[in-house]
Amino acid sequence: MHRHCRPWLLRTRKQYLRSYSTITPDYDVVVIGGGHAGTEACTAAARVGARTLLITQNPDTIGEMSCNPSFGGVGKGVLVREVDALDGVCGRISDLSGIQFKVLNRSKGPAVYGPRAQIDRALYKQHLQAYLKDYPNLTIKSGSVADLVLENNNTHSTKGQQTVRGVRLENGQVVRTPNVVITTGTFLGGEIHLGLKVWPAGRINENPSIGLSKSLHKAGFQLSRLKTGTPARLDGRTINYEGLIVEKGDHPPSPFSYLHKTVPYADQQVLCHQTRTNPAVHDYIEKHFDQSIHIRETVQGPRYCPSLESKIKRFRHKSSHNIWLEPEGLDSHLVYPNGISNTMPEDIQINFLRMIPGLEKVDMVRPAYGVEYDHVDPRELRSTLETKRIEGLFMAGQINGTTGYEEAAAQGIMAGINAGLRSLGRPPFILDRSDAYIGVLIDDLITKGVKEPYRVFTARSEYRLLLRADNADMRLTRKGYEAGAIGKDRWSQFIETETKLMNTMNLLEETKMTANKWATFGIKPNNATKTRNDHGSLRSGIDLLSWAGITLADFTQVLPSLKDLEPSLTERIMIEGRYKPFLKRQQAEVEALKRDENLLLDIDLDYNSLNQLSNEIRNKLAIVKPETLGAAKRVEGMTPAGMIALLKYARRGRSTTVTPLERQTVA
Ligand code: FAD
Repeated sequence: MHRHCRPWLLRTRKQYLRSYSTITPDYDVVVIGGGHAGTEACTAAARVGARTLLITQNPDTIGEMSCNPSFGGVGKGVLVREVDALDGVCGRISDLSGIQFKVLNRSKGPAVYGPRAQIDRALYKQHLQAYLKDYPNLTIKSGSVADLVLENNNTHSTKGQQTVRGVRLENGQVVRTPNVVITTGTFLGGEIHLGLKVWPAGRINENPSIGLSKSLHKAGFQLSRLKTGTPARLDGRTINYEGLIVEKGDHPPSPFSYLHKTVPYADQQVLCHQTRTNPAVHDYIEKHFDQSIHIRETVQGPRYCPSLESKIKRFRHKSSHNIWLEPEGLDSHLVYPNGISNTMPEDIQINFLRMIPGLEKVDMVRPAYGVEYDHVDPRELRSTLETKRIEGLFMAGQINGTTGYEEAAAQGIMAGINAGLRSLGRPPFILDRSDAYIGVLIDDLITKGVKEPYRVFTARSEYRLLLRADNADMRLTRKGYEAGAIGKDRWSQFIETETKLMNTMNLLEETKMTANKWATFGIKPNNATKTRNDHGSLRSGIDLLSWAGITLADFTQVLPSLKDLEPSLTERIMIEGRYKPFLKRQQAEVEALKRDENLLLDIDLDYNSLNQLSNEIRNKLAIVKPETLGAAKRVEGMTPAGMIALLKYARRGRSTTVTPLERQTVA
């Protein structure tokens, strides 16, 4: 078939599909949806070298922040850094649009630092759209995808699995492609709730995606409902800030992106303010509970970001909840009252807002609302985010049951890289739990599924000391480069940073003296007994950094070249030094664990053939279809005996004897 022939004009679906496998696709990868997952996915696929098409309902909404005007935070900030380390977009665009930067958890230690920024909503969209406009290998098309074009695989090895061949738009046009990434956010079967009013929409004033939801259901995907909500937008000119708690940013700000040393609005950072609800507000809302659909809780919302109605209902002992008043932009009067998303009717909303200190005369520009939507069971996915059910079909973002821009971006970049690599016949790019929070997020999703919108926080990782916000580039950029996902500029910047860090670390490592000798240069810990009890052992400069009270600045008399090191690198070396003894131990644990965790399991494995497994575990494994022994271990309800059975299976053809040590490790 000639590539310019229009196959959608062929008469039957069978004819079309038969002709399909022999024709050149229009694009190597098609990404559906220009939200936070979609923009990372399309740029990542394009960066890898795939001819990529982004189809989105309205290109003017690319970069829309559906809810809060901020990026990052505890856990989430590390995700932004990791996406940036893989040359993604959200970190660099946040830096260009950020109007207040703050590292959260400064007092708790670098392992849980949470870089965060207030973002100017309009600037974010403007910068992101400009960045995507001329992105090499990327085309953007306005349109709504209504259906997937699938082909049945009839070979014995694929056991009736389907393969994606293209997408059909609402206007009937078909775009041919062997790789599709769906990133449709809250739009699948989306429904807005405001009081008792309900209407179909993906976001306020935007159409839902109904056809695609049906088509996924028809293909056999398990869809369930989740919900979320956003607060009202207020006119900042009608807020009385007097007496409210002021929240300032950091000076100087720490950019998200490893590409940036500073940010454009470093000297114009805005102030946020804090106020609170009170018992009168709670009583008033409770009296009107019968006027909210969301409060019925028939569908799960985000546990860690509940609506105000849910907070009042669940935490009756609390007489007040915090509200952060966050400006939406430098040239905007809009203020986002973080902490009071709700779905009460408009008149109730304005009444309770005016009972809050500082908001007595506030004007509500847009009411709060909730949205309920379909999501796909993420246990349908592999660790590349390709579905197990349909070859070439990937999913990323809120569709997989997550909540948050950062979680969406993290999945988007992984799905995009892998769709791109698949199109080029290259090996997949997988990050595991010890590589990145991205690995933790994906592993949690695909092994445990979701019962409520999933968000990342630091407690989800067993390797917190390794997975820090400061070292994401050292953990990921080289891996990304080897997969072909890192651009030239990023790579040269990375090499420059890596060289400076390594040189300084080596210098400190090679400079060794006894603690008493170091003390003669004024380099001594807070705890004097440490030096006294050191009995003449030689200590390197790095060893000394793990002693409380010693900073890199103390070394400049002995190592004058340290004076020229940039402040951001100085901080990174101090953190490495401080954690070095613990990191060594954690690294050894990771390596021991990986030995068996990475043994592969066949996703078509017939679990009925493994007699040692209970029926309950068999059923769960058959749903999750874990790809590795490690993923099987994390399936809910998995037992040590079951793990031994799987270990024996995974090693079939090699040794079937399980040693006591292995027994301990896998169980
Ligand atoms: P989105 O950013 O929603 O992007 C989806 C994109 O897909 C849109 O551009 C849409 O036009 C496009 N699209 C959809 N269907 C089609 C189709 N068929 N064809 C072509 N294009 C299509 N997160 C939090 O962390 N905390 C919160 O409190 C919170 N509250 C929220 C409240 C509301 C009302 C909403 C809508 C979202 C909220 N979020 C919240 C979620 C946050 O916005 C999302 O997690 C994030 O935007 C998801 O990114 P995404 O890329 O998956 O989808």
